[in-house]
Amino acid sequence: MEVLRTVDELRRWSRALRFARTGEAGHRIGLVPTMGALHAGHVSLIRAARAACSHVAVSVFVNPTQFGPNEDYALYPRSFDADCALAQAEGASVVFAPAVEELYPAGAATFVEVEGLSERLDGRSRPGHFRGVATVVAKLFIAAEPDLAFFGQKDAAQVSILRRMTADLRLGTEIAVCPIVRDADGLALSSRNAYLSPTERAQALTLSRAVRQVESLAAEGERSAAVLIAAAQKIFAAEPAVRVDFIEMADWSTLEPVETAAPGTLFAVAAYVGSTRLIDNAILG
Ligand code: AMP
Repeated sequence: MEVLRTVDELRRWSRALRFARTGEAGHRIGLVPTMGALHAGHVSLIRAARAACSHVAVSVFVNPTQFGPNEDYALYPRSFDADCALAQAEGASVVFAPAVEELYPAGAATFVEVEGLSERLDGRSRPGHFRGVATVVAKLFIAAEPDLAFFGQKDAAQVSILRRMTADLRLGTEIAVCPIVRDADGLALSSRNAYLSPTERAQALTLSRAVRQVESLAAEGERSAAVLIAAAQKIFAAEPAVRVDFIEMADWSTLEPVETAAPGTLFAVAAYVGSTRLIDNAILG
């Protein structure tokens, strides 16, 4: 497995495969964008990519433009050697790990803004976050021209925003969404879980507890967003150490709040456990 450091190298890798295409049975290029500190959630994306594509690039890039000024960019966990070993073991063809200046050359002034959607859910409490995400993913898609790109439902709002972006810019990459991978006790895996003390780790279970409760009430037939949100609020109220950022029922494509939960509706929560911001969600059945 090769480690590529420049956009040109990634483009050359992708184009070489593209030109080597042989009709229907030709190469399919999959891209798995990550910020590294790979865990079983990322592995599930690489496996899905391997299953659907002949060649898989995993990008490892802690993207500065998606972090707010008071967020954890400098602290964000970095474990590049272990990430490469894992990507290789999972059958990735290349890891793309550019320096910041490679993706943001001096004087970079071009950003991708998905209007409206980017100000909803996480975007409301993290201004500029989705602009950074859309910009970096657009750069990756333009460079690698993947047939398929794999993202986790864990970041459900991100999926809607990237779908809008690829449709609007006619980028020609299909977005595949993989289910949330959880620890045995229900906590959604996240690179940020590494920040949690043992006490906070236990408190963090409030998020998945609330999500499970809403999923089971919805499965029993409850359709009122207000009732479902109130049930989640009650679970958070039992753990005052956890500070809620938002609890919302939204249309998964537009991210607009809904009053009635229907199959496919997004139920999403975000909360601070100590200084760590965690998210969780369910797509209601
Ligand atoms: P990140 O490195 O946190 O930017 O995540 C890279 C990709 O992995 C994103 O598409 C995430 O949604 C996905 N991901 C992160 N955590 C999980 C998880 N627990 N289950 C499934 N996918 C995940």
